[in-house]
Amino acid sequence: MEQAKLIVFSAPSGSGKSTIIHYLMQQGLPLEFSISATSRPPRGQEQHGVEYYFLSPEEFREHIAQGDFLEYEEVYPDRFYGTLKSEVGRIGAKGKVCIFDVDVKGGLNIKRMYQDRALTVFIMPPSVDELRRRLEGRGTDAREVIEQRLAKAEYEMSFASQFDTVIVNDELSVAQQKALETVSGFLAR
Ligand code: ADP
Ligand code: 5GP
Repeated sequence: MEQAKLIVFSAPSGSGKSTIIHYLMQQGLPLEFSISATSRPPRGQEQHGVEYYFLSPEEFREHIAQGDFLEYEEVYPDRFYGTLKSEVGRIGAKGKVCIFDVDVKGGLNIKRMYQDRALTVFIMPPSVDELRRRLEGRGTDAREVIEQRLAKAEYEMSFASQFDTVIVNDELSVAQQKALETVSGFLAR
C-alpha cells in the first residue's frame, strides 16, 4: 500500500493559517486535522479535542517523558505544543491525510521525518503591521500575548524559504484558492 501523505501549514500567529486550513477542510478532500496537544489555556470558543488537546504542564511533561510525541516545541516561553504519535496513527487508520498546523520548527522537523511524503506550506502575512491588525481584530489574546507573538513573527518569517511553498495571505480568497490548488496537486501526485 502507498504510504500516506502529510500536509503541514506553518506561519506566524495571526497570518490566517487556521482560516485557510478550515477552508481546505470544507472542500471535500480526504484531509483530517491533526489535533495537537498544548499547555496553553483555551482561547475564545476553543474546545478540548477539537482545536487542541488542552493539557496541564504536568500532563504535557508526562507525555514527553513517555516518548508520546512525534515532535514538540516550547513555541512561546512556558507554552508547549506537540503532535502526539497517537494522533497520526488515528488519522492514518482512517485512510485520511493528516493536515498539521505547527510552528516553523515543528514543520521543518516533520518534513525531515517524512521527506517527499510531506508537503510544507508557509502562510506569509502581507506585513507585520497587518499581522498586528489581525491579531487585535481577532480579539482573542491579551495585549502581552499579542506582543509576544509579534516579537517572534520576523524570526518565523526567516524560515519561509525552507518550505516547499510560500503563500502570501493578502486577499483571503486568493490565498485560499492558491492553497487549494497546491494541496490538490500534491494529493494527485
Ligand atoms: P492563525 O491561525 O495564523 O493564527 P487566523 O486564521 O486565526 O490566524 O487569522 C487571524 C485573524 O485574521 C482572524 O480574525 C481572521 O479572520 C483574520 N484573517 C485571516 N485572513 C485574513 C485576510 N486575508 N485578510 C484579513 N483578515 C484575515
Ligand atoms: P496558537 O496558540 O495560536 O494556537 O498556536 C501558536 C503556535 O503553535 C502556532 O505557530 C502553531 O502552529 C503552533 N503549534 C500548534 N500545534 C503545534 C504542534 O503540535 N507542534 C508545534 N511544533 N507547534 C504547534
